[in-house]
Amino acid sequence: MIKMNLKILILIGILILAGIGIWLSVQTEKITQPGISIVSEKEEKQEITLISVYDNYQVDPEMKTSWGFATIIKTPRDVILFDTGGNSEILLFNMKKLGIDPASIKKIVISHIHGDHTGGLEGFLDKNPNITVFIPSSFPQSIKDMIIQKGGRFVEISAPEKISDFVYTTGELYGPPKEQSLIVDSKKGLVIITGCAHPGVVNIVERAKELMKRDKVYLVLGGFHHPPLSCVKEFRELEVEKVAPSHCTGDLVREAFREEYKEDFIEYGVGKIIEIR
Ligand SMILES: [Zn+2]
Ligand SMILES: [Zn+2]
Repeated sequence: MIKMNLKILILIGILILAGIGIWLSVQTEKITQPGISIVSEKEEKQEITLISVYDNYQVDPEMKTSWGFATIIKTPRDVILFDTGGNSEILLFNMKKLGIDPASIKKIVISHIHGDHTGGLEGFLDKNPNITVFIPSSFPQSIKDMIIQKGGRFVEISAPEKISDFVYTTGELYGPPKEQSLIVDSKKGLVIITGCAHPGVVNIVERAKELMKRDKVYLVLGGFHHPPLSCVKEFRELEVEKVAPSHCTGDLVREAFREEYKEDFIEYGVGKIIEIR
């Protein structure tokens, strides 16, 4: 009788251990799942600041303007530079005026290959080579070599990926050329930042919503690549709350957005600081 009970006890013990083993393996799988699906709803949404450091539109007259785009995304964890404008002297001048130390930046994300977004990269790396540059994997070898030669590192992006806490890339979408946009999971909702939006700004917003599994978008900011005027209505249908079109959006579409969005239209251009608290 005692022998029987012992056998049963051992059997129960084995079953419990096996159960724990299966449960643990499921948990590890969840944690190690790659890509954007690891976003946890439970994570606290962070406060972020967006600063325009390069644009052909000007908000602060102290800044220099030129054709191109660059924006800084400050989170409690990282200072990220998204695109570098067309000229590093202008980029560094504006950053200095805004009190941003190049050494505080550890990550640069480049949206696409055009010179008005990549032009400032080399000169910036001369100032601060201690940088990881997230580039579309379609970039030519010459840019990859240049980054290494300057003392930086690069990460090639093709699929959606996490760049920092609360900051993700959409991955390469086809334009032409191939382009990546940033998604910031801010305290107030999704913020989508586009360089030139060659794949189509509406497509980018749809892709970001799909990736992050959200019904609404808090803000879309950046170059919209002179889309058709119907884009304004499509943004409403996509439940985009605020817009900050700049760079290559085109004056006509920009004004249409201003008229439709009223106080939710943000005049974006070099020197503009947006705090999301
Ligand atoms: Zn472009
Ligand atoms: Zn551009």
